[in-house]
Amino acid sequence: MAIDPAQENLIVGVVGAGAMGRGIAQVAAVGGCRVKLFDTRLESTKEAVEFIGTMLHRAVDKGRMEADDAQAAIDHLEIIEATSGFANCHVVIEAATENLDIKRKIFADLENVVGDNIILASNTSSLSVTTIASSCRHPARVAGFHFFNPVPLMKLVEVIDGMLTAPHVTEFLTGLGKRMGRIPVRVADAPGFLVNQVGRGYTIEAAHLCSEGVASFVDVDRIMRDAASFRMGPLELMDLTAIDVTHPATELIYEQFFHEPRFRPSTLMKTRMEAGLLGRKTGQGFYKYEGGKQDVADEQTAPAYEDRTVWVSPAHTETHGQLTELLKTLNANLDEGEEPGDQSLILVTPFGIDATTASLEEDLDPTRTIAVDMLFSLEKRRTLMKTPVTNSVFTEAAHGLFASDGTPVTVIRDSAGFVTQRILAMIVNIGCSIAQAGTATPEDIDKAVTLGLGYPYGPLAFGDFLGAERILEILLSIYEVTGDPRYRPTPWLRRRALLGESLLTPES
Ligand code: NAD
Repeated sequence: MAIDPAQENLIVGVVGAGAMGRGIAQVAAVGGCRVKLFDTRLESTKEAVEFIGTMLHRAVDKGRMEADDAQAAIDHLEIIEATSGFANCHVVIEAATENLDIKRKIFADLENVVGDNIILASNTSSLSVTTIASSCRHPARVAGFHFFNPVPLMKLVEVIDGMLTAPHVTEFLTGLGKRMGRIPVRVADAPGFLVNQVGRGYTIEAAHLCSEGVASFVDVDRIMRDAASFRMGPLELMDLTAIDVTHPATELIYEQFFHEPRFRPSTLMKTRMEAGLLGRKTGQGFYKYEGGKQDVADEQTAPAYEDRTVWVSPAHTETHGQLTELLKTLNANLDEGEEPGDQSLILVTPFGIDATTASLEEDLDPTRTIAVDMLFSLEKRRTLMKTPVTNSVFTEAAHGLFASDGTPVTVIRDSAGFVTQRILAMIVNIGCSIAQAGTATPEDIDKAVTLGLGYPYGPLAFGDFLGAERILEILLSIYEVTGDPRYRPTPWLRRRALLGESLLTPES
């Protein structure tokens, strides 16, 4: 008989009382469930119950919770010292150490303790739910229930259907997730599920950009925060998560996808992990930390603009107009000839090609060419890109001009697709590949990513905001310049861009 997740005396078992297990226990108890908590280290369960009590009392002090409700939730917690204590649970959620052998042993043990209709869920973040379920006697009752850290603050929970999971199991977990105050999103089993796949686009592409010498860590972070409106730059995010967490998860997703080039890890991440530069927790990652404070290099100093004539390429009508408008407000000495004058700074606005290719394709002088990234508005930060032979006189003239109203400017080395174009195209393309695979609905892909990663938009809406055609153009161009299949556009993106449809358009 199906179990009702809303039933009054629902008993939830939680295996593992570490960072995740205690968070799951907390939200289950706050949701009115009785919770049984087990850990091979009894101390962990005791610390967990104490920690939850502190958290709930703090919520009362801050006026976010009634004292009676907090006490009721605390009273709902029970420590058990053996898995036999799970016998009367309606569902058991496993949140133990991320290791397949450990998890398989736990599930085998649970199957010997609980009845055949009891639901078993794993909070694994990188193992296949289908693989965990495959060694169970009743794989149909096993599903993924993937919470995010810290659980009480992160509203998203991915409810994952393994290959053999019975629909009533994920329906139950969806209901339970809601009762726990979460926002559940249904996801089919896939490497990295949904959110962790998209997150790779942000971090791996940034690492590739840095290892190619395109920009420094701090420059990539500044560009992604200021120009693209991400809350944290990708490198500082990896420092927070710790590279010994991010890199192994990346390698695993890459292996599980049979070396799909979009998920190809970066040697930069691996070598830094091996060197022990793990991030905040070791005091040094991509940045150094003194007393928890990030040591950040100063902005590149802007030289003065000394009235050099500036010529803007007309190759892209729209960006030519936008850039010319901005240059007028900066009182630039505009060269409005059909061809650039002999001494003029030459500005190009490529999408997906490098400054070198843009200057040669347009028959311009690469020693005087600077490319301007026009994917996002130029209000908060401006990114300028040199060819390998741009003369420093022209780089300085461009830097001085674009910084003359006080807006920060970042000068990067040549790259097909700047920083924002490469990272955004990768995120949108991965979102599209998830939609193509049917791992989740288009709406759920965007919902999960905005909730789980805090991006300004989900990958599909981001693609729509920037223009699906533009993203397609960027990917095709990067692919042409680099020959790297990681930039090949997904069919989902290509078809919708060609049809002029939103990337959120489902298959008919
Ligand atoms: P953790 O190391 O903080 O806690 C794991 C706990 O499991 C420990 O207390 C350990 O004593 C206990 N444990 C180990 N073997 C056990 C067993 N056989 N039976 C019972 N308890 C056992 O780890 P965590 O960060 O809480 O991660 C737990 C799970 O959640 C992992 O599968 C992880 O991939 C997943 N997850 C973690 C995060 C995160 O950001 N930390 C996010 C989502 C999912």
